[in-house]
Amino acid sequence: MENTLHIYNSMDRKKEEFKPNNPPNVGMYVCGPTVYGDAHLGHARPAITFDLLFRYLQHLGYKVRYVRNITDVGHLENDADEGEDKIAKKARLEQLEPMEIVHYYSRRYHKNMDQLNTLPVSIEPSASGHIIEQIEFVKKILESGYAYESEGSVYFDVLKYNEAHDYGKLSGRKVEDLMTNTRDLAGQQEKKNNFDFALWKKAAPEHIMRWPSPWSEGFPGWHMECSAMGKKYLGDNFDIHGGGLDLLFPHHESEIAQSVAANGKDPVNYWMHNNMISINGQKMSKSLGNFITLDELFSGEHKLLTQAYSPIVVRFFILQAHYRSTVDFSNEALQAAEKGLEKLLNSIDTLESLQPGEKTDFDLPAFKTKCYNALNDDLNSPVLIAQLFDAVKFINSVAAGQSEISKKDLDELKELFHTFVFDILGLTKEEKQTPDADESMLSEAINTLLEIRARAKKNKDFQTADMIRDRLKEMNIIVTDTPNGAEWTINK
Ligand code: ZN
Repeated sequence: MENTLHIYNSMDRKKEEFKPNNPPNVGMYVCGPTVYGDAHLGHARPAITFDLLFRYLQHLGYKVRYVRNITDVGHLENDADEGEDKIAKKARLEQLEPMEIVHYYSRRYHKNMDQLNTLPVSIEPSASGHIIEQIEFVKKILESGYAYESEGSVYFDVLKYNEAHDYGKLSGRKVEDLMTNTRDLAGQQEKKNNFDFALWKKAAPEHIMRWPSPWSEGFPGWHMECSAMGKKYLGDNFDIHGGGLDLLFPHHESEIAQSVAANGKDPVNYWMHNNMISINGQKMSKSLGNFITLDELFSGEHKLLTQAYSPIVVRFFILQAHYRSTVDFSNEALQAAEKGLEKLLNSIDTLESLQPGEKTDFDLPAFKTKCYNALNDDLNSPVLIAQLFDAVKFINSVAAGQSEISKKDLDELKELFHTFVFDILGLTKEEKQTPDADESMLSEAINTLLEIRARAKKNKDFQTADMIRDRLKEMNIIVTDTPNGAEWTINK
């Protein structure tokens, strides 16, 4: 392959030439969402970052197996070993089965990812579908001597592992510092050290998501699923593991320790981490009230938003920053991205309408090289976008009659624009969604009926509630009750 991709490896803290184990095959694992709520900005960034990588690797001719998991069990509150399971808690609050929560939010996550024009991944395994693999993995760690059983739970013995290996080699943390920085918490007496992490947890009586195991009825620790599913679908050692920077420690550090303990080798050759998103300079959090879901962003229905932003504008905005830089969301920044995207997409229409001349007043080979160099330099999308805008200036000057381009070069420029803008950056010329007046009247009428139905249900007038649902169904309008209230779709 003439293109040499260099990627920044978080393990070695430098850019390295990408050399897969078995070219043209590439194995890539990315930590997916814990599906207990709507996808927000924090979910958009890794999805778009690794979609760009997925697209570019395929463009270079690699055959990529992209695995992204769904966490549906074992992710406890505060990412700790104590507390309630995030999904079980949501299920308790909504009075639904945990798997209803999982299915509902997985569906919504996929819808948002489609809107952002991310390609479907190759395999999307769920933690609850791989309990047996996780139990087998825990058994192997116990056999290696780097784990211990305590009161029906199994913990990873960090100190013992660190004597022979290096717990902290990814994050740069030292076990000695962890010892001084972690305080004793209640309920952790069953661990030898409070930084030991759970591989298997015995379920408390009120805990609903539980499976039998050799140690207790319980559930796997959060870090275990990625080790077990990465091994199952990509092998004991694979090419790329990605995720948000917030997952680097303890999640990825612990994944490495688990795999080294069980399989005797490092699981991953290239660790990649995208940086985080802030909002108006602040960390995104529910308590600060600046937590914006993707649906709110696309509809504009949030107090911090002055307008709706289309999914492709959000995608373009994220790609305007290098994935290892921080990104700050603000209305001004998004509006600038909206204008920039419009300019870029308009230039493609202009490009299509250009008439060829005799010669070309533009260094097309240099443009092409610079575009590839940008991507080969650790997926530098902002530099690629800057190169594209350089070409936009030229396109506009040809349209204004100030420069010219030959027939052969015009064809090549069109092809390059399609490749970089649509195939690799994954931008699209989507139609603006403006429902016509009839459609919005129909929506309002249905929503009014559903409000009446909700009131009837509240007053235990189920006859009326069912009548509304059934009559709507006769009109092919299907009403579904969800954790967010009733929703409807038209069955076409
Ligand atoms: Zn993970």
